[in-house]
Amino acid sequence: MESLARIVGPGNVLTDPSDTLPYGTDWRGSAAAAPAMVARPASTTEAAALMREAAASGMRVIPAGGRTGLAGGIVPIAANAPVLSISLERMNRIRMVDPIDMSIAVEAGCTVEAVQNAATEAGRLFPLAFGAQGSAMIGGALSTNAGGIRALRYGTARDLVLGLEVVLPDGRVLDDMRRVRKDNTGYALRHLFVGAEGTLGLITAASLKLYPALRLRETAFVAVETPEAALALYGRMQGCGAELVAFELCGQRTIQLTVQNGPRLRAPVPLVTPWFCIIEIAAAHDGLPLRAIMEDSLAAAMEADECADVMIAENEDTRAMLWRMRESTPDAVRQAGPSVPTDTAVPVSAVPRFIADVEREAAARWPEGHVMSIGHLGDGNIHINLQAPGPEVPRADWYTRAAGFDEMVNRLAVAAGGSFSAEHGIGTGKLKAMAAMKDPVALDVMRSIKAALDPAGMMNPGKLLPG
Ligand SMILES: Cc1cc2nc3c(=O)[nH]c(=O)nc-3n(C[C@H](O)[C@H](O)[C@H](O)COP(=O)(O)OP(=O)(O)OC[C@H]3O[C@@H](n4cnc5c(N)ncnc54)[C@H](O)[C@@H]3O)c2cc1C
Repeated sequence: MESLARIVGPGNVLTDPSDTLPYGTDWRGSAAAAPAMVARPASTTEAAALMREAAASGMRVIPAGGRTGLAGGIVPIAANAPVLSISLERMNRIRMVDPIDMSIAVEAGCTVEAVQNAATEAGRLFPLAFGAQGSAMIGGALSTNAGGIRALRYGTARDLVLGLEVVLPDGRVLDDMRRVRKDNTGYALRHLFVGAEGTLGLITAASLKLYPALRLRETAFVAVETPEAALALYGRMQGCGAELVAFELCGQRTIQLTVQNGPRLRAPVPLVTPWFCIIEIAAAHDGLPLRAIMEDSLAAAMEADECADVMIAENEDTRAMLWRMRESTPDAVRQAGPSVPTDTAVPVSAVPRFIADVEREAAARWPEGHVMSIGHLGDGNIHINLQAPGPEVPRADWYTRAAGFDEMVNRLAVAAGGSFSAEHGIGTGKLKAMAAMKDPVALDVMRSIKAALDPAGMMNPGKLLPG
């Protein structure tokens, strides 16, 4: 502890379990455990010194960002040695914004929202966006390769990376803070650390892509009868002539619970159809008749029976309310009772069939559960949760009764040509799926990379790679 305190100052080392426990607790709160110590570096130099100290004293290291992860990535388990959680919260400087290079360089402890705001101030767009963006940090978002609502247009966090700065397990700093778009100088090492969930090193800074600011936006809430109708509408909107930047699909029960429980929310249309979409189109040029494009497209969709009811946000307040509603869905689902979550992706065209297969099997095997769906139709990533019949059911009981649900959903996603982990990562929650479903050759290569970079197994043990 004294050595760590010499590096970051005594006020930035925590050892009391009541202080360290939050650093071993992610958003779901399941299986939380207190790391032995937490250290909060203020610079890459301090972070590298911490890593050298941890290596020398045989500690295990878990990087901690905003602690909004959903896969148990920050929870100390299976460490066989004291765990040092290195929290990036003090490394929150925007190092540089360049609107000509269309890039921004930030420390890993900047929240996603802070990066969005810095880009906006420079007249540009940093497009990564999701419900936890006010707390989730860039280091965490990259380490989980977060997706969110605009991935259909701008890709996931990985697609936004130009370069990284990473402290390796031996304390060396890999300085790959590139701004150039073209760099054919061998292996793209930065991509090793994206989606690695802290198992290969500590990301301390990132150079990220910016896009032209969106000057106009139109957002609609649309009632649809079936996922097939939603898919037809999605195809229509892709060809509407404006940028389609978000296309979300929500089941009726999910939206009903959200509207009932969420602060300052109201139903945009009567919630009588089984499905609803939130659609956003945008333009970087304010001369485009975006409103007319949205109205005409949805009128044509109505005629073609693709939608049953429509509300187009008439001002910023209503648009903000629609997105607040979407962002409130995880909390609403959580409050309504325990549920087994899933996070899969299938090809967009396969979404209706995938949902139907899941609903059919769930009804047959767990008739007492509620199937709750919410997700990003535009990239095939629908989260289908199986919720307990009521909030009074203890979580552990429900997980026992619903055992096999997530495996069933994963199996159907993979059979449809998709992935059993779309945007939340593997953490500890999907280790079994990783062992059962990931290509053994891919697992073997991953283990070789881990052994090359972290031969002592110091970084985030027990996560991502099945034992
Ligand atoms: C309400 C809500 C909505 C969400 N919506 C979405 C969504 O739409 N799309 C989506 O993709 N995710 C979503 N998430 C999940 C979560 O926000 C993301 O996974 C986020 O990227 C995690 O960032 P974090 O800073 O909180 O990471 P943490 O939870 O702190 O850490 C996550 C993992 O990354 C590692 N890590 C953290 N920082 C670093 C670093 N600097 N270097 C190396 N490893 C590091 C940790 O060790 C851990 O394994 C949502 C979460 C919530 C609570």
